[in-house]
Amino acid sequence: MTDVIETDVLIVGGGPIGMEVAWRLKGVGVACQQVEAGELGATFGWWAPNTRFFSSPERIAICGVPLVTADQGKCTGEQYRDYLRAVAVQHDLRVRTFERVVSIARLDEGGFEAHTERSEHGVGGVDEIIRTMAAGNAPVYRRYRARRVVLAIGNMHRPRELGVSGESLPHVSHYFEGPHRHFGRRVLIVGGKNSAVEAALRCWRAGAEVTMSYRGSKLDEKRVKYWLRPEIEWLIERGEIAWMPHTRVVRIKPDAAHLASAGDGASKEEEREVPADDVLLLTGYVQDSTLFDQLGLELVTETRRPRLDSETQESSVPGVYVAGTACAGSMTRATVFIENAHVHAERIAAAIAGGGTPEEAPAAPEYGVLEES
Ligand SMILES: Cc1cc2nc3c(=O)[nH]c(=O)nc-3n(C[C@H](O)[C@H](O)[C@H](O)COP(=O)(O)OP(=O)(O)OC[C@H]3O[C@@H](n4cnc5c(N)ncnc54)[C@H](O)[C@@H]3O)c2cc1C
Repeated sequence: MTDVIETDVLIVGGGPIGMEVAWRLKGVGVACQQVEAGELGATFGWWAPNTRFFSSPERIAICGVPLVTADQGKCTGEQYRDYLRAVAVQHDLRVRTFERVVSIARLDEGGFEAHTERSEHGVGGVDEIIRTMAAGNAPVYRRYRARRVVLAIGNMHRPRELGVSGESLPHVSHYFEGPHRHFGRRVLIVGGKNSAVEAALRCWRAGAEVTMSYRGSKLDEKRVKYWLRPEIEWLIERGEIAWMPHTRVVRIKPDAAHLASAGDGASKEEEREVPADDVLLLTGYVQDSTLFDQLGLELVTETRRPRLDSETQESSVPGVYVAGTACAGSMTRATVFIENAHVHAERIAAAIAGGGTPEEAPAAPEYGVLEES
């Protein structure tokens, strides 16, 4: 067993909001250790290559460092990871990467102890599925003791599974890994929100034969980026992309998927076979709440989001704070984004520094803030 590393605050998660928490704490002179299961900003590492944010750069800039793109447009996941490295260097934020917190507990004498494992990648993405399947008993890598803990662990850790037969066949994936592999192939894309629409457009442009299956009747204008909708609607109207609304997948075979059509709800379900070489199930992701459960956090609503003090981000367990998209639980509709989570870091630093916004901490940039629901 390794020596214990003592710190005031342990920050779990090296995404943008975990980094912002570290920066804010540094600003008020609070010692912290930050650990990240994968690389810095690991969540952006599993986005399909060249995927752009829908948020404009100034809204996702962190730690007071401007995010500049060559064309003033929205930045890609790759550009954002480069930017995160620059932020870490600028503020000397020392994130311990490839170290995953696997257990965490309150200590009788006060404070918390966390154990980590060496890890190959961040929590989420295709590799996470492989890890979950192969999970064994890795040795404890480091032990941390902290007076307080901040969980900035994100919330896209595993795919939202459909639970149909054939879901784990090799040509079926919950992740769009880029269009090139689908060239010249029949691709069935399941879902009707941003990820599904973006994948459909990119696959079609890359020479795939695309069919979309969606349980709704039409694309929801609030859930599809305003610049994607006209193009997908135009391609569907021209028959370039086959559109199968009001359908759900009932089973997947090596060369086809069976879709049930519910009709208007009164009529009998009809089943139809759709030939498919590849099936992309882009139906969202869920949070792994293991750390919340280990600490005994009160989780509320069907999303199992932690109950938090809205002024401090402190959970039902004193000394445990939650920041970033981790606060939202397994949401079906995104309510927490980077842009409305900057304030979490401010609140936590203020609470830990003893109330009020500490003078040393720089003011938050004045971006438009979305309402949390
Ligand atoms: C295609 C796509 C487009 C998106 N576009 C936008 C957008 O335009 N704007 C926007 O705001 N958001 C967007 N998002 C969501 C975006 O990814 C999140 O808003 C952002 O990552 C939240 O930052 P975070 O720091 O809260 O969490 P994350 O960036 O998810 O960071 C959490 C980190 O914690 C680590 N972690 C988890 N558990 C552990 C553990 N046990 N031990 C150690 N480390 C752990 C993870 O590896 C991860 O790196 C998009 C998502 C997708 C998939």
